[in-house]
Amino acid sequence: MSHLFYLSTAQRPVLDRAEGIYMWDRTGRRFIDGSSGAMVSNIGHSNPAVLAAMRAQMERATFGYRLHFETEPGEQLAAKVASLSPEGMEKVFFVSGGSEAVESAVKLARQWAVVSGQASRWKVISRFPCYHGSTLGALALTGYDPLTDPFRPMMVAMPKIPAPRAWLDGLNPDDPATGAHYAAMLEAQILAEGPETVLAFIQEPVGGASIGALVPPAGYMAAVRAICDKYGILLIHDEVMSGGGRVGRFLGGDLWGVVPDIVAISKGFGAGYAPLGAMVAQSRIVDAVQAAGGFLHGHTYAGNPLACAAGLAVLEEIERGGLMGNAARAGAVLKARLAALMQRYGFIGDVRGEGMLLAFEIVSNRKTREPLPPGLKAFDDLVERAYAEGLIIYSRRSRGGYAGDHFLVCPPMITTEAQVDEIMEKLDRALDGFAA
Ligand code: PMP
Repeated sequence: MSHLFYLSTAQRPVLDRAEGIYMWDRTGRRFIDGSSGAMVSNIGHSNPAVLAAMRAQMERATFGYRLHFETEPGEQLAAKVASLSPEGMEKVFFVSGGSEAVESAVKLARQWAVVSGQASRWKVISRFPCYHGSTLGALALTGYDPLTDPFRPMMVAMPKIPAPRAWLDGLNPDDPATGAHYAAMLEAQILAEGPETVLAFIQEPVGGASIGALVPPAGYMAAVRAICDKYGILLIHDEVMSGGGRVGRFLGGDLWGVVPDIVAISKGFGAGYAPLGAMVAQSRIVDAVQAAGGFLHGHTYAGNPLACAAGLAVLEEIERGGLMGNAARAGAVLKARLAALMQRYGFIGDVRGEGMLLAFEIVSNRKTREPLPPGLKAFDDLVERAYAEGLIIYSRRSRGGYAGDHFLVCPPMITTEAQVDEIMEKLDRALDGFAA
């Protein structure tokens, strides 16, 4: 009997070791880490340089409380993150995970509003569907009923606008009118709430788990930035999944040259070597909060030197190996191969994503874009068939009956084109026989 409990009740193999894009269970079976865990292990497993950096730090100090000590790895990592972030985003606040990064962003935004005489602003508009984390504040921003509803009224939902799912709505994602159409929904929501009550808008530049690698339509990102500016609303990018290099750039927002006010990163930032996340913010926001007495927020383990040493070594490995370039190149090959599957399998309705953040969506009817019937077991069976082939991919059943049944195919950024072939062979065999 296991004493652990999770959301899933599925029995899983016991992990023994992992190296590169491969993982082995205790019986010696090999798996391809086809979704980098949950889009975490961006540079693959057991990277020798990262392990060496962690060992070296371990020998010096594993913990120094941040209110008692500055640490070298912390300072160096913050400087590195600032150098990789857009102009003006120079302030870094470390945390230990994605939910903490999102909550930190919202609390910084709120404190900034208060100290700058705008205390009436408190609402944070997000999108539907979306996922911003599991803690109660981040859940309030999350648009995914099965995960949020059981916790109301403890967790009061914030306003939501529809995510720009052009494909699902039958709109052309390459037409700037489509981007304008969805951005107009943000403006309408701000006006409905009363602009003086709206603190921030939060979105994932390239959508992750809840929405399957959604790439916004043409014109959307710039229009959203302009609307936030027009009403004095902060733009928060949740780059917990899209940040860290996976999309071929350090941040997803970089793909459109859109600079947010605050960014949340995690997952691939620690890349599975350490629980690590960060909030990166514009200096003007942080300076105002610091001048008023400091940021009223913190987590005990945040910024510990071991996690920071790991994070620094991960970023150095990404630079040394040109891994963002590889994510873009091998990701394009993988995306084309996934798109080619649409010719063979009518139940694949859409293939999308950027770099190594890729997904395919499964539908009952490609023409009408009708989602799978609720409770369909075939979807879970597909995950199991992939497992049987030795391929792990991340799945998300829409559960509530709304569209969005998808699989994320997001191997580590080190994946070679030969390994893309290996992934595709296994995936093809798993898909063969799926019946929606
Ligand atoms: N935001 C996004 C976009 C995420 O994908 C996740 C995790 N799936 C989170 C926040 C929460 O991160 P964590 O699980 O590390 O708290």
